[in-house]
Amino acid sequence: MNIQDIPENPYLLLTPGPLSTSKSVRAAMLRDWCTWDDDYNLGVVQDIRSRLVRLAAGESDQFTAVLMQGSGSFGVEACLGTAVPPEGKLLIIANGAYGMRMVRFMEVMKRPYVLLRVAETEQPDLSRIEEILRSDEAITHVAMVYCETTTGILNPVKEVCALAKKYEKITIIDAMSAFGGIPMDMEKLPADYLISSSNKCIQGVPGFSFILARRTLLEQCEGNAHSHSLDAYDQWKTMDGSGKWRFTSPTHTVRAFQQALAELEEEGGVEARYQRYKENQRILREGMERLGYHTLLPEELQSPIITSFLYPNEDFDFKTFYTAMKEKGFVLYPGKVSDADTFRIGNIGEIYGEDIEKLLKAIEEVTA
Ligand SMILES: *Cc1c(COP(=O)(O)O)cnc(C)c1O
Repeated sequence: MNIQDIPENPYLLLTPGPLSTSKSVRAAMLRDWCTWDDDYNLGVVQDIRSRLVRLAAGESDQFTAVLMQGSGSFGVEACLGTAVPPEGKLLIIANGAYGMRMVRFMEVMKRPYVLLRVAETEQPDLSRIEEILRSDEAITHVAMVYCETTTGILNPVKEVCALAKKYEKITIIDAMSAFGGIPMDMEKLPADYLISSSNKCIQGVPGFSFILARRTLLEQCEGNAHSHSLDAYDQWKTMDGSGKWRFTSPTHTVRAFQQALAELEEEGGVEARYQRYKENQRILREGMERLGYHTLLPEELQSPIITSFLYPNEDFDFKTFYTAMKEKGFVLYPGKVSDADTFRIGNIGEIYGEDIEKLLKAIEEVTA
């Protein structure tokens, strides 16, 4: 099939994922693969794993990648269950729904944790974190979300990781909505574990998540996991030498992801993608402001990934707005903040400045 013959999407997804993908990513799914064959295990899986490690840590040989079936949450649960042993204790710093999801995982797994809960529109206070690390010596691991997709806030990951290291803690970053779209280096953060998924900034389709791990730490995680299918150590042991997943992998999604990684490289890497997302966000923020829509967050806390907008007035009905916008070719996202009426517009995926300009024109028409 020629790329031109791949059908257009009926509308753009301006959401936090799954996202609008390129036609060539979708075209990469048009064949079947054998999960026992080298064409797939070496040609696709191992290639992806080494590309991910390079994206996460450059030329460093300290890190390894584990791919895990399921959406991003499966990767987070697998990582927490595998990395934090039953006798460990996790400090979770949460300022949104995804931070709180980590709390839920620990509750269900019945593993010890302590929560530092922060308002959804604020970054955590470093001195509070230091106080907790200093006073609770049982803490072994620290976890936080890079970009809290609930609001679109960026968290001070570098500062928190540095603090965790000062107290010799292992760091776990849910970089789901940031990895591939915001430059980061696990060695420099320093992060010991980092989780993301196929359908966020790498711009693949949904179906699996991945855990990037410091090899010397992961090697010590045998027998930690609470679950057999979510045992990231066991998955890694099988996958590391052979490229084999323990159980059936989403082959078409995995192949599409390899194509998406190649396109990230063609675009100029993470830095170039970051510039595109930042430009998308700038055009959106400035244009929306002109139309009377204000952002939930101040500019200095705002990520280039997704933006929360306050309802412009009391009569605003998101459902009506959503339906009208969908007819014009744009799918938006409801808000997720607890104490303000908001909706969200994503900037990630196969979205360019001219798409945002068209979006603004459509919003102007719908609002009028
Ligand atoms: C998307 C996302 C997840 C995973 O959500 P799934 O619905 O399981 O894909 C986790 N954390 C963050 C910050 C996210 O943006």
